[in-house]
Amino acid sequence: MVGSRQQHDAALPPGTTGVIRIDLDQLAANWRVLAALGRPAECAAVVKADAYGLGAIRCVPALATAGCATFFVARLGEAIEVRALAPDAVIYVLDGLLPGAEQEYSRIRARPVLSSLEEVQALAAFGRATGTRPAAALHVCSGLNRLGLPKADVLSLSQEPGLWAQIDLQLIMSHLASADAADDPKNAQQLETFQLLRSKLPVTPASLAASDGMMLGPAFYCDLMRPGYALYGGQPSGSQRTPVEPVVTVHARVLQVRDVAVGASVGYSGIWNAARPSRIAIIAAGYADGIPRSGSASNGCENGAVAFGGILSPVVGRISMDLITVDVTDLEPGSCQSGDWAELIGPTITLEEAGRRAGTIGYEILTRLGPRFQRIYVGGG
Ligand SMILES: *Cc1c(COP(=O)(O)O)cnc(C)c1O
Repeated sequence: MVGSRQQHDAALPPGTTGVIRIDLDQLAANWRVLAALGRPAECAAVVKADAYGLGAIRCVPALATAGCATFFVARLGEAIEVRALAPDAVIYVLDGLLPGAEQEYSRIRARPVLSSLEEVQALAAFGRATGTRPAAALHVCSGLNRLGLPKADVLSLSQEPGLWAQIDLQLIMSHLASADAADDPKNAQQLETFQLLRSKLPVTPASLAASDGMMLGPAFYCDLMRPGYALYGGQPSGSQRTPVEPVVTVHARVLQVRDVAVGASVGYSGIWNAARPSRIAIIAAGYADGIPRSGSASNGCENGAVAFGGILSPVVGRISMDLITVDVTDLEPGSCQSGDWAELIGPTITLEEAGRRAGTIGYEILTRLGPRFQRIYVGGG
């Protein structure tokens, strides 16, 4: 669609003003590359938040067809959706076991990632009461201090070996705090703590690395890797390139191009004034579509940007709910007209670049892209 006026238009419902194009073949290729990198460790796929906003309904089957047999989600509701899409897969739910949820886990054959002594006890009690031995993962804290059992609780669990007669412990996992910085000493410290905590528990497969952790080398692969963002083409590590390619492009339509006189302001609160006779393109995407308002730009500060034919055009003025205004004065006449498509994410503006320009990260850009974008899937059989 970049640099082209008509391409794709025939396939779109009339009035479409925003398109997310998702390459399912590239998604599958990214999974295969990461799986090969970490072999013989198994490679799971993290598909929480509707596959990072790209649509679990299409991404989960594409990943399963590529060979992925284990999925992680955050919420139990997400696991229900994934179970319908991948009937044979192993599904872990990072939220853990909320009170009263045991039966639902059992019904959909999903595994809670247990994060507290209370959750462990509750699942064991459910196993006793039902004469079953429910499968689960145990999340231990190696230094992130978010979810996961602290060391003292792991030690007290180690005094109760009888518990594991009631719970089918399939995985011990932890999560890294600073894996996006390869030289941060915290990575090695967390690995050491994780190995120590594992040694207190029954011998069980282990999982430590998300996308960025996979770039720290084989010591971090353990038995199961848990990439999310890199599968979707993101570059999670600030210090190393991850060998994946982009999966997503995002384009929005130019509604109008208007001339603005010297001194005139553009947009709410007049935070930007034209210093020269300017041409301003009005683009049909705004913060309700997940374009961060923090990418707004006042005079002398360039924040958000879009691109036409590989050339950046900076946001001027406030990003509003439905619209972005960008300065296209420097483009060749004719390369930005009403009806054209502006690249919001693509070959010129990566997810990381879009994140940086809005004071956030590519993850947030990706997962907040809103429902008003038309999602178009290519590939995927
Ligand atoms: C989200 C998440 C992942 C995946 O992280 P990415 O950086 O997207 O690869 C893995 N593990 C846990 C615990 C997570 O919360």
